[in-house]
Amino acid sequence: MIEQHFAPERRRRLTIKRGKERVVSNRHPWIFAGAIHAEHGPEDAALADLVDPEGNRVASGFYSRHSQVRLRGLTFGGEELTPELIRKRVRDAVRRRGHVFRDGTTNCGRLVHAEGDDLSSIVVDRYDDVLVVEIANRGVELLRPLIVETLREELSPRGIYFKNDLPVRALEHLSTEGEWEGEGEPIANVLEHGLKFRVDPGEGQKTGFFLDQRENRQLARDLSANKRVLNLFSYTGAFGVYAAAGGAASVENVDVSAPALEMARTNHELNGSEATYTIADAFQYVRRRDGSEFDLLICDPPAFAKSRHDVERAARGYKDVNLFAMRMISPGGLMMTFSCSGHVDLDLFQKIIFAAALDAGRRVSFVRRLSAGSDHPVSIYCPEGEYLKGFLLEVR
Ligand code: SAH
Repeated sequence: MIEQHFAPERRRRLTIKRGKERVVSNRHPWIFAGAIHAEHGPEDAALADLVDPEGNRVASGFYSRHSQVRLRGLTFGGEELTPELIRKRVRDAVRRRGHVFRDGTTNCGRLVHAEGDDLSSIVVDRYDDVLVVEIANRGVELLRPLIVETLREELSPRGIYFKNDLPVRALEHLSTEGEWEGEGEPIANVLEHGLKFRVDPGEGQKTGFFLDQRENRQLARDLSANKRVLNLFSYTGAFGVYAAAGGAASVENVDVSAPALEMARTNHELNGSEATYTIADAFQYVRRRDGSEFDLLICDPPAFAKSRHDVERAARGYKDVNLFAMRMISPGGLMMTFSCSGHVDLDLFQKIIFAAALDAGRRVSFVRRLSAGSDHPVSIYCPEGEYLKGFLLEVR
């Protein structure tokens, strides 16, 4: 059944515009409509071949007629796109994560990270025996059984939850309802570095948990002994739980979402630790200037820039919250500050932190650069995959 999508006559044929060949030689997986001269073949194809003006195939991949990214390149040059190639990419991605789970203290992590694993538009996260899949493209959705079958063979999960909540799915004419194929409920109790967390992929943000911060949370634990810790934009309290485990003197979790803080309470309880939970808008919270001081402050806001047009507004938001947050840090205290907006690059983020430090009137040093964990690889051909960046700062 699935195999038929790979037959030459079932594929869309895209002819590249003369002069646009460079798009392919750079191996960037996103081939935009603007680089395409003509399209032939079935409109509802899952796959397409890109050919040069002489008719030679130069790339093949997932096709979507609804997206400006007409082709999500999987193979370039002469390499054949077969079902086995996709199966192998999924299998290889899963197996590359062995190191995350090896010592048994962690049973959650990202198994497939889209372009970083040469599988554009596919994300697969593992939460113990539950897998959560996010598909952002129509071609991938049509080939879903192939991916699911490979995941089941490799991992025998209790179930797979299809999150289906990416806004782009509506543009791709795909269902935006979550789907659960499995036994029991799609809720998992996971271990991360030996700490316990409850994850509810159906209700939670992203796929349920911010797996990309695992290594940074471990760093927070190492830095927390005897510190008063403020966890701004705490979500379900993961940084707070690590800080408490690291011997923090106190932990305060602040988030605007009441359900997220309810889960934060559950997570602290699961680990036998205490914290306070403040439902507040972080921008207002950091302005209250009631003299409260913290020795380690974590600031991990949501992506303020959803598109290129938002970058300026986002930069103001990041500067604002960082500036006021810095003023709450005790002399010589530490701050872990992040941006997960793909459109705000490291250079811009550094400038924002510079401006915030200047206006906060504090002497600030970079101690370390921070990024997503090793299960979130970034393709050298698709640097857009690098979205999470951060700094560990010393604030004197
Ligand atoms: N650090 C977290 C993930 C943070 S996600 C972790 O490791 O799990 C960003 C969080 O910011 C979300 O929980 C969202 O509810 C919260 N948020 C968004 N806007 C906010 C605002 N203005 N004030 C406070 N919290 C906000």
